[in-house]
Amino acid sequence: MRKFFVAAAAAFFASQASAQTPPPPKLLVVLSVDQFSADLFDEYRPQFTAGLARLASGAVFHNGYQSHANTETCPGHSTILTGDRPARTGIVGNTWIDQSLSRPDKVVYCAEDTNAPGSNSKNYKVSPVNLRVPTLGELMKARWPQSRNVAVAGKDRAAVMMSGHRTDQRWYWNGKQFVTDLAGAPVPASIGAINTATARELAAPAAPLQPTPFCSAKAQPIPVESHAPVGAGAFARKAGDVDAFEASPEFDGSILAAAAALVREMRLGQGSSPDVLSVGLSATDYVGHRYGTEGQEMCLQLMSLDWDIGDFLKFLDNSGVDYAVVLTADHGGQDLPERLRLHGVADAQRVDPGLAASAVGKAIGARLNLTGPVLFGDVSGDTYIDASLPAADRARVLAEAVRTYKAHPQVAAVFTYDELERTSVPTTSPDTWSLIERARASFDPRRSGDFVVLLKEHVTPIGHVTKSVATHGSPWDYDRRVPILFWRPGFEGRTVEAAAETVDIMPTLAAMIDLPIAPQSVDGRCLDGTPAICENR
Ligand code: ZN
Repeated sequence: MRKFFVAAAAAFFASQASAQTPPPPKLLVVLSVDQFSADLFDEYRPQFTAGLARLASGAVFHNGYQSHANTETCPGHSTILTGDRPARTGIVGNTWIDQSLSRPDKVVYCAEDTNAPGSNSKNYKVSPVNLRVPTLGELMKARWPQSRNVAVAGKDRAAVMMSGHRTDQRWYWNGKQFVTDLAGAPVPASIGAINTATARELAAPAAPLQPTPFCSAKAQPIPVESHAPVGAGAFARKAGDVDAFEASPEFDGSILAAAAALVREMRLGQGSSPDVLSVGLSATDYVGHRYGTEGQEMCLQLMSLDWDIGDFLKFLDNSGVDYAVVLTADHGGQDLPERLRLHGVADAQRVDPGLAASAVGKAIGARLNLTGPVLFGDVSGDTYIDASLPAADRARVLAEAVRTYKAHPQVAAVFTYDELERTSVPTTSPDTWSLIERARASFDPRRSGDFVVLLKEHVTPIGHVTKSVATHGSPWDYDRRVPILFWRPGFEGRTVEAAAETVDIMPTLAAMIDLPIAPQSVDGRCLDGTPAICENR
């Protein structure tokens, strides 16, 4: 016996869906707010009145996850438009160590080309060669040769990881001006105008911002050992102070201005095929590092960002382009331990500088009668054993290092290369992952360390403060959980409590523009409840 209802109903629902579905947007705008944790988004959401409020009226996944353990800028940006976690993008950190390099500097910067003559991790040739997978923009260009893939960011690694290998325009701030690594691409005239305007702004002093009552209530100077107190600043800036400029709302204003200039000059979203514009807004990260996340400074930064994104969206409205926006972050962040303790987080502390790989390596070398550095790495994360040691000595060093780190009261876990290689990439919801599953999502067999050290929750991996007072990079949710907001004109969204991942952004945007993505070809999945119609995939 045949059943007719299901087929008829499916046809009816399909016709309803197609009747309600607007045509695909012509411009995808991808905003990455560096170090914008979901904790900050949740706290400030009721305060937003402009651009961030508009985006928060769309589909809001406030339990978004940069699901991997090594929550740094380069891995985080590598997930957003590839649909893949760092275990597949190959971007395991902002840097990693390659002891086989012939140059003296064995540290690899994530967005450098180590084969370029003279490149090293500090003074590098910017390149996407380390990114192992294509970005959305590259796949769009493969399907629609007229599609444009454009990126602008405060940091080179943000622009490189979001746009990838085939890019039409890519501009990032180099400490003085917006520059590009793309040889041969025509230089937009508007970039010169933005650079001139930014240089003029930077050359003048900046008056302090006037805090709203909500922000001034957060103004409390917090003493930090060997550092000036932070917490009550308002971005007064001396003429020409680049560090202060970058850690202020002025910086994101310049980045958004450059993005708007590229939209106008390149007529993005007005061609025959969809375009993608990635924007890396870096100031929130610099503010977080310099002042922490819970003072008046971060408050002023986020309120300014709300207004600046609002103006940017109004600019897009006025351009007449049919656009859609996604906003997320490359990682979250944690406040400085001195203020966390005042706010009741009793176990907040700075890392023991004795956990530095150099210090631990020296002690192990003395115990095992070995010469040389023995270990390479930082106070946590990927740690490498000196490859020039004989295999038997390397095995002894590994056993001794694992024992030493595990015995330290600030260490949560140590996982060896072999343990991570044997671990399956998890398929469950990222909020339920164990520590080794988080570390597995950061593991690349050719780039990861001989072992990885994970610090306990609320241990800040800055021992003695010299510059940054606070940071990120841990496997804990204050660093992993980020907002993911999808917005399109006319789309009424809602807040979704279920966990999502930043790797879901790429397949969701692909569905929105009818770009087929082969099932299982990426780690992410199309998210329902967004302007994308996933069931058509
Ligand atoms: Zn970052």
